[in-house]
Amino acid sequence: MDFKVSFSPQKAAPAETETVPVMILGAGPAGLAAALYAARAELHPIVLTGMALGGQASTTHTIENYPGFPEGVGGAELGELFQKQAERFGARLEFDSATEVDLSRRPFRVKTYGGEYYAKALILATGASPNYLNVPGEKELTGKGVSYCATCDGWFFKGKNVAVVGGGDSALEEAIFLTRYAETVTIIHRRDALRAGAILQRRAMEHPQIRFIWDTVVTEAIGEQALRAVRVRNVKTGEERELPFDGLFIFIGNKPNTDLYRGQVEMDERGYVRTNMNMETSVPGVFAAGEVMDATFRQVITSAGMGAAAAIQAGRFLEHEEMSAEHS
Ligand code: NAP
Repeated sequence: MDFKVSFSPQKAAPAETETVPVMILGAGPAGLAAALYAARAELHPIVLTGMALGGQASTTHTIENYPGFPEGVGGAELGELFQKQAERFGARLEFDSATEVDLSRRPFRVKTYGGEYYAKALILATGASPNYLNVPGEKELTGKGVSYCATCDGWFFKGKNVAVVGGGDSALEEAIFLTRYAETVTIIHRRDALRAGAILQRRAMEHPQIRFIWDTVVTEAIGEQALRAVRVRNVKTGEERELPFDGLFIFIGNKPNTDLYRGQVEMDERGYVRTNMNMETSVPGVFAAGEVMDATFRQVITSAGMGAAAAIQAGRFLEHEEMSAEHS
């Protein structure tokens, strides 16, 4: 992905300390939309991009459901546009990653590879990462047949045969969604029982385009320019086979990128940051937006909307703090 930036800690700028009104962790749709809104409110936000500028969306070939782009827009291109727009109003992007966050003190302390910042308000927008199979060919063929997002990529498999890995709600829901495009959808699951809820199970089992391969794991994604087959192994018999597929969709769980905040802010049992409708976390002055707190919608439009809301609330929080300080 040409929009991805690899950050090399060795090349980081010399350590510096800076106090900022608003700091945003993460530069996916939520972080960059928050940056735009915070910049326009003259809050001079600094965005730590982390390792993946543009977020998960930048790995999507074409985004066709982001309003305003009737012909669709490249995931990387959309991220670049978000970035340009935020920078136009004064947001500063730092190609650096937070290594430590201290939410127990105000202003909040954020340590990075390149320096140290103190932020009066903090917006957590570090997103989530799909779990990977970690098999040969998976990484190389991502975006070339291997995908982690049916909503984003399903359209490209019109009339094709695709495989879905996983047996949870996501795998089944996405498999059913993929039947709109693909001719057949084969769910490959490592056990002989599904984890997904009963209704989804029934809908998938009864679907004429969906088949199941049980007790089987994918051991390789095969293809040169594009995926052409997957190698599978039956875990009970040990039998290995190569099966031709045009697409391989992997839904084996997601992991919110919240390790940095663990124990400092309230999270649900899956590790998603908890917020209220105002994007406020359990720590006053700390807001969260996008997939770091949202396991339900996971769309560019919803993440961007939440990012904008978080920035608006951060502005209100700072205004309120300032007024309180004046009256005390
Ligand atoms: P999940 O429930 O954790 O299911 C992951 C699936 O992937 C499981 O079937 C698991 O197999 C399989 N798996 C895990 N690691 C694997 C590996 N290395 N190789 C092969 N298979 C592997 O994840 P999810 O489906 O993304 O759901 C996450 C949460 O969101 C759940 O709480 C779910 O209920 C919720 N959700 C709800 C809805 C809905 O209600 N409409 C939709 C989507 C998600 P095993 O079963 O053998 O462990």
